[in-house]
Amino acid sequence: MDLPRYHRLRAPYYRLEGQRCGSCGSIQYPSRTACRSCHSRELQPHPLSGRGTIFSYTQVGQPPQGFAGPYLVAMVQLEEGVRVTAQLTDVEPHEVEIGLPVEMVVRRLREYGPNGYLVYGYKFRPRIASRAD
Ligand SMILES: [Zn+2]
Repeated sequence: MDLPRYHRLRAPYYRLEGQRCGSCGSIQYPSRTACRSCHSRELQPHPLSGRGTIFSYTQVGQPPQGFAGPYLVAMVQLEEGVRVTAQLTDVEPHEVEIGLPVEMVVRRLREYGPNGYLVYGYKFRPRIASRAD
């Protein structure tokens, strides 16, 4: 992802933003030009909680260039009912299971070249019960 695109997408990255349909009330993620349910274009930005449970997951053993690996990728079912695919962090592979409660955190995704240009994005980590609200 190049720099202008990164800056343009910054807000959605840092607070995981979806869309709410002004016509039927559906929430969707990622953003689209029309509502997936009713095709209305009356869409408003809608912040997502970042909390959900693991719907499915897989371990990636041969990561793309620029990524540290191996790592875990999960499809997370958010509280709002939408699914997000992202890396897992702060968890060992044997600790991951379907239905595990997770929350979004902002972490370094990759590093470019010798100047260390960093790209941040969201990952998910296990939600600790005592911190749940
Ligand atoms: Zn709609």
